[in-house]
Amino acid sequence: MILVEHATVITVDALRRVLADGSVLVDGSRILHVGPSREVHPPRPPDRVIDGRRLVVTPGFVDTHVHLSEHLNRGLLLDDIPVDRYLPDWLIPLYAVMTAEDEQHAALLAGIEMIRTGTTTFCEAGTLFDTSAVADAVERLGMRAILGRWTWDLESGPDRMRQTTAEALAANAAMLGSWARATGWCAAGRSCSASAPAPRS
Ligand SMILES: [Zn+2]
Repeated sequence: MILVEHATVITVDALRRVLADGSVLVDGSRILHVGPSREVHPPRPPDRVIDGRRLVVTPGFVDTHVHLSEHLNRGLLLDDIPVDRYLPDWLIPLYAVMTAEDEQHAALLAGIEMIRTGTTTFCEAGTLFDTSAVADAVERLGMRAILGRWTWDLESGPDRMRQTTAEALAANAAMLGSWARATGWCAAGRSCSASAPAPRS
């Protein structure tokens, strides 16, 4: 059990309350109580008490557009590449050789960074191949996510980026079929903004 006390708490509740001297009581993955510090009384001594003075507590942020795999090529692309050459000359060839293990490690790195900066839910922008491997990483991280698979039917791409319409649709059908097992993530097609189911809580 963790108690954050005497913080500025941005509740984002129905009344949009901002508590100048607020406390948040957490037990495992559950928030037990949010309220003015004088009203939050742990049922037993907390394992950890965080002095929240000079701190702000907010609900977890939601990052609505993440390319997980690109956490592996930071610093690799030159600054002066013309924008229209980014995809064909650099990113697409990199995505073409990405393995499931690469995607899983990229997801772990990206997730750790997001957690450290307050993001608890994210939407992958639709640039994964092995959503199952990435879903395992999401579950390990304890985050919530919407995952999206590369879905296009450009037959000119290098290696695995080359897909027919039928192959792209079949890969999505397989991904959606595996979705039922997940607890913390859900699958989306190329665009996560249009028709993706909401993440499960
Ligand atoms: Zn993007």
